[in-house]
Amino acid sequence: MLNRFVVDNLEFAEMKWKAMQAGDAGEAQLRILLENYQLTEHVLFNVSLQASGKFQIDCIVVTGGFVLVLESKNIAGELSFEENPTRLVRVRNGVVTTFESPEIQLERNMQLLRQWLTRHQISIPVIGAVVWTTSSYPLIMKSPKHLPMMFLSTVPTFFTQQQAHFPKILTKEDCSELTKLLVEENERCKFSRYPLFPRWQTKVLSIKQGVRCVCGSFAMQRNKSSWHCEVCGIYDKRAHIATLKEWFIFVKDTISNREACYLLGIESRHIAKRLLKSAGLIETGGGRSIVYKWPW
Ligand SMILES: [Zn+2]
Repeated sequence: MLNRFVVDNLEFAEMKWKAMQAGDAGEAQLRILLENYQLTEHVLFNVSLQASGKFQIDCIVVTGGFVLVLESKNIAGELSFEENPTRLVRVRNGVVTTFESPEIQLERNMQLLRQWLTRHQISIPVIGAVVWTTSSYPLIMKSPKHLPMMFLSTVPTFFTQQQAHFPKILTKEDCSELTKLLVEENERCKFSRYPLFPRWQTKVLSIKQGVRCVCGSFAMQRNKSSWHCEVCGIYDKRAHIATLKEWFIFVKDTISNREACYLLGIESRHIAKRLLKSAGLIETGGGRSIVYKWPW
């Protein structure tokens, strides 16, 4: 996807993009694990909330005895949890990288969630753990001191232990209600993580024109009411949608008719308009200032 754009800092953008995809894959693994073990019906992923500040939690599990916060981490290599200052140091292929301590991140999120619960007059213990979702286990040279840190496979055992430890405070109905409240608040606070380039302080110098084919070429041509790839020969009516999505992920949260004409490599603004609408984009503004947004 990145090869559509010429940016001022490609190496950095590629690194960030890779890390993001690895993070998403890790989260998906956590999701599958929790579903397989049928740990609880009250599991939420990627929850955005607001207490004294905005915060986002990878995974929240609501139970009758406690609320569990899981932060998934996907950092491979030799890891040392250092103190003074608290940080995570990773050595991989001889390269040393420093990250914010996952413990600090988790503690901050737990603190904010406690605040949030208090504001909603819900009294229940909040516990947390950092879950390692890397495909190969990292080598831990120096362990963290304060909060539990575990590999994906040990989450069910940890969960069962905690359940035995905390007495039930909330009924099943209370749990459902709390989960519902979290879902509603998440809808209200959800902040889009796109577009990425502005957030990464990466400038787009130019954009390769053309609708991308699944074969990787940018050579799709408008042919009657479909797109035809001159390289691999396939026809795909909806090929422009993936290309438009790349724009919203990386460049801007709006696209004008003129920008769409350039991106899709077409001349007719009438066809552009039709394509933008058929992609299910949301039209905002009026007259000459009409722009379209992606329905995230
Ligand atoms: Zn093709």
